[in-house]
Amino acid sequence: MKLSRILSNQNGVSRKQANALIAAGAVTVNGVACREPAREVDRFATVASRGGVIQVGEQSHYLMLHKPAGYLSATEDKVHKTVMELIDDNLHSGLHIAGRLDRASTGLLILTNDGTWSRQLTEPAIKLPKVYRVSTASAITGETAARFSAGIWFEFEQLRTSPAQLELLGAREARITIYEGRYHQVKRMFHAVGNRITALHREKMGDIGLDDNLPPGGYRRLTAEEIESVP
Ligand code: URA
Repeated sequence: MKLSRILSNQNGVSRKQANALIAAGAVTVNGVACREPAREVDRFATVASRGGVIQVGEQSHYLMLHKPAGYLSATEDKVHKTVMELIDDNLHSGLHIAGRLDRASTGLLILTNDGTWSRQLTEPAIKLPKVYRVSTASAITGETAARFSAGIWFEFEQLRTSPAQLELLGAREARITIYEGRYHQVKRMFHAVGNRITALHREKMGDIGLDDNLPPGGYRRLTAEEIESVP
């Protein structure tokens, strides 16, 4: 919401008065004077004026979890255990998953209560790289890399995937970098070239890599640098 709106939402403060207060440098956002009435301020920021605190910033949470196999990437489910069971109860409120992993998949899962931030991480148009290590049922053929690089046609969505890179690690092992995160994307890409994924592990999203010190089921807060690495 715009800063001027946050002020004028208060009883008895007109938009004109709000703008004047802001222009006079009397309003702070997270303790720093802000003179721009049009500044977009989210619910995580604390806003104050000479009269006191106008908005108390909510605490934001940014977590990385080393997802083990067998947990659903969902906040609740009647049948399966979800990744929320691995996270302390006092962090659950408002948390959502930024880019799901299938139940059998493992690796980097990011959870946050900041929807604006998580959209930047997952929105296909932003084309942030996502890196996966995969094992396959059949040997990966020589033409697979070229097919992925040309993009795979997804009939259901009527679109071609962005060029993806494939690095062969063994006859049935590879690292793949994709730039969207469509439903079952990696599995469907391998299916399109006549192969089948038997294991899938996410190593990285953008510049955020899974911390080697996290055991399966372990999680930690993202560092300020990791949070800021998302455009
Ligand atoms: N692509 C898939 O097919 N599965 C995942 O879990 C993640 C990406």
